[in-house]
Formats: sequence, C-alpha cells, structure tokens
Amino acid sequence: MQKLKEKIIPNQKLSPELLDNLNAQFEVAGPDEVLLWAYHTFGSDMTLGTGFGPSGMFLIYRLWELGVEIPIFYLDTNLLFDETYKLKDRIEERYDFEITRVTPELSVDEQAEKYGDELWNKNPNRCCYLRKVRPLRNYLSDKRAWVTGIRRSQSESRRDTQFVEWDPENNVVKINPLASWTGDEVWNYIRSKGLPYNPLHDEGYPSIGCIPCTQPADGKTDDRRTGRWNGSDKTECGIHLPTQQKNGKKNKLTPN
Ligand code: SF4
Repeated sequence: MQKLKEKIIPNQKLSPELLDNLNAQFEVAGPDEVLLWAYHTFGSDMTLGTGFGPSGMFLIYRLWELGVEIPIFYLDTNLLFDETYKLKDRIEERYDFEITRVTPELSVDEQAEKYGDELWNKNPNRCCYLRKVRPLRNYLSDKRAWVTGIRRSQSESRRDTQFVEWDPENNVVKINPLASWTGDEVWNYIRSKGLPYNPLHDEGYPSIGCIPCTQPADGKTDDRRTGRWNGSDKTECGIHLPTQQKNGKKNKLTPN
C-alpha cells in the first residue's frame, strides 16, 4: 500500500482508508463513475488494455461516449485469431482512433528456436511470460494506471477484484470498472447498443485468446475463462494476479 501512496498525484492522496472508501462507493456506483474518477486522477497517464473481449467492447464504447481520451493498447502475441485482428480494425474505424500494438521481444519462430517448438504446450507459463507478461510490464513502465475489463464472476481467481487496486507486478494502479458486473449484464449492454464483438463468441468460444490455447466450450455467450488452456488447471496468463499473490505470496505464474 505504501507504493500506492507514492504513485498518487499530489492533489489526490490515496491512503488505504480513502481507497477502501472509494471501493465501497464504487460498489453502488456504475462503471462511468469509476472511469471518470480515474481519468480525473490520472489523466492520460492512464491506459486501457483490451483483448477485444466483451468487457473491452463495453469499456471502449463508454470511454468514447464520455469523451475520455486515453491510450488504448492490446498485447499482440502474434498468435491471435484473424477474427480478433479484424475486430481491432473495425473498432479503430468505428471510433476513429488507433489502438497501440504491444509485442513480445521474440517472434514466434525466434521463440521456437530458443525454447523449442510450441512452448505453449510444454511450458505455457513461460510462453505467457514471454509473450504477454513481460511486454505488458515494459509498456506500463511509464504509466501510472491501467484500466482492465476483469470481473469477479469470470473465475475463482478474480472473485476478490476491487474497482481500484495496486498492481504490484507492474507498479501501477489498476482500475477495474466492471469488477461487480456479470457476463450477462455486459452482453445485454452490448446487444442493446449494437456494439461490435468478436464473431467467434457466436461459434461457442466464451473467452478468446491465442489460437493454440483457446477452444470452444459450451456455447454460452459469457466471457468466463472456459475453453482457455483446455486440459490444464491454468486459468490466467499472468497479467491478472489472483488476490493472494497481490498480497505478497510467491507468484506461481512466474515461469521456472
Ligand atoms: Fe503462449 Fe498460450 Fe499464453 Fe498465448 S495464451 S502466450 S500461446 S501460452
């Protein structure tokens, strides 16, 4: 928590008490209030990260409606579905802005040369570290806050997600405006506004990431982590640490 205090802009100190107070208020406020508070506090030193899932579609639209202009980025592992890249192009055209592409140091071929073919099968934690965790850390190194679309209902490891919290892995404040929303609420909003979304959701993919680690699941249009890293107990790539790890326990997702 000390680190959090040090990062706050001079005119707004986030003591642990204020943080608790803010999170309590945001439980009964909506995502817009969270976004506006965060923008007021961090300005364009804040960025939105999206994997082009339903929550990202919602947040991009809300930022656009609110007139909040902050950088938006995605982690391009070079292993994403064509549908995802096309959706990115569609979003850029619709909202008339560019989404920053954050890439790993190694191409897929270079990674295969160094670590062997299909590292995602042999050591998915290392693969995620190289292609997601480290590029994210580099990108956030000059930012003070990042906005994510994670929600408590997505998985057990996200059930304690707060609206505003410290991200010790990236040394920034993490803003989760949709922490208390359900997948149904997000989807209902997307449909009511006719927002664009990844067509793979209609083909039975609840959660969409890299091609080798994403499989269709039960066909429900939620974005729960079902279908990711099928056949293993892995549910996170490592960019969203479960609460017990944020609180200082060893990061089990750091590669060995
Ligand atoms: Fe590698 Fe799979 Fe992680 Fe993508 S999701 S970075 S392919 S292990």
